[in-house]
Amino acid sequence: MSQPVDLQNVSMIFGDTRAVNDVSFTVAAGEFFSILGPSGCGKTTLLRIIAGFLQPAEGKVLIGDSDMTGLGPDQRPTAMIFQSLALFPLMSVWENIAFGLEARGMAKAARRAKAEELLTLVALEGYGDRMPGELSGGQRQRVAIARALAVEPQVLLLDEPLSALDLKLRQHMRSELRALQKRTGVTFIYITHDQSEALAMSDRVAVMSAGILQQVGSPRELYDNPATPFVARFVGETNTIAGKVTTIEKGIASLDTPYGVLRGRVGHGLSTGMPARLYVRPEALAHGSKDENKLTATIGRIDFEGAFALAHGKLPDDSPLIASIASIQLGNSPTAGSSATFGFRAENAVVLPDV
Ligand code: ATP
Repeated sequence: MSQPVDLQNVSMIFGDTRAVNDVSFTVAAGEFFSILGPSGCGKTTLLRIIAGFLQPAEGKVLIGDSDMTGLGPDQRPTAMIFQSLALFPLMSVWENIAFGLEARGMAKAARRAKAEELLTLVALEGYGDRMPGELSGGQRQRVAIARALAVEPQVLLLDEPLSALDLKLRQHMRSELRALQKRTGVTFIYITHDQSEALAMSDRVAVMSAGILQQVGSPRELYDNPATPFVARFVGETNTIAGKVTTIEKGIASLDTPYGVLRGRVGHGLSTGMPARLYVRPEALAHGSKDENKLTATIGRIDFEGAFALAHGKLPDDSPLIASIASIQLGNSPTAGSSATFGFRAENAVVLPDV
């Protein structure tokens, strides 16, 4: 069972800080939904409001058709997994998982059976009698998830649950969490400041900055069609080039820039005559291509990152330019100290108002 979650004009004020400012969005039942933003943008506050640990100053939260206003965490069909997951160290794994069931009056044999079922779900069959201290970080994390799922929440709220794990384990747990969410069908609301995590796991992502909702969309929509400069910069890497919009035609804007006229797709809120910026991803720049838009830079250094390398260059006025080059093509790529021309297609760039 899962339920949709509907936030309507939710605000939260702490002293002078508007930690959450008039945020509205709907999470569909059974969706893996992430809230993404930098430290202090209001993600945890939003999650605590959904969980019922905080009541919003304005607005309301609906789960299913029910208004949650005034209800505490125990009265909501939600469970929350915290950043610093706390298993009970003196209880076995299965007792940890079954902890919430005892309070509901379930008999011991039934609790044990339910715990075993959940251990299978999180791929930890046979671990029920271990103590938390005898598990790896990733296994402890899965026990915490099993414990949260034991009470059969309709919405699971996850507050950066992977942040304490090392990179390899984090990447492994991403696909495990994603698969688990699809298997259970429970609505997941996941908060993170790590954009690659949000892009890899989510059906949709809400991007927040300074308490304000910037955009809600699928990972692909956010990456290809950022609605605001903040989203363009925060989700993935981007080059930005300032200029003035001269013409708009068939969804393509021409921008007068210090490096000549550059063209890109028309972004949200753009009109002719505006100061604006063109955003183009490092992988959209192709060395030596014949594409209509061209940028010439002096290459400073090339950072090898494995599958690809990042060429860091300077444009004629010393502004930075980053181009990504597939490693298998490194042999034909520009070298440090040389001048290189990169081309890109208008469809692979977006122009947004300069705000
Ligand atoms: P992080 O990723 O660092 O956890 P966050 O995006 O989750 O950050 P919040 O914890 O929601 O951010 O905080 C949002 C803003 O509200 C911050 O400016 C924070 O200092 C402020 N804030 C949060 N809780 C309180 C509180 N109880 N009292 C006063 N200010 C608070």
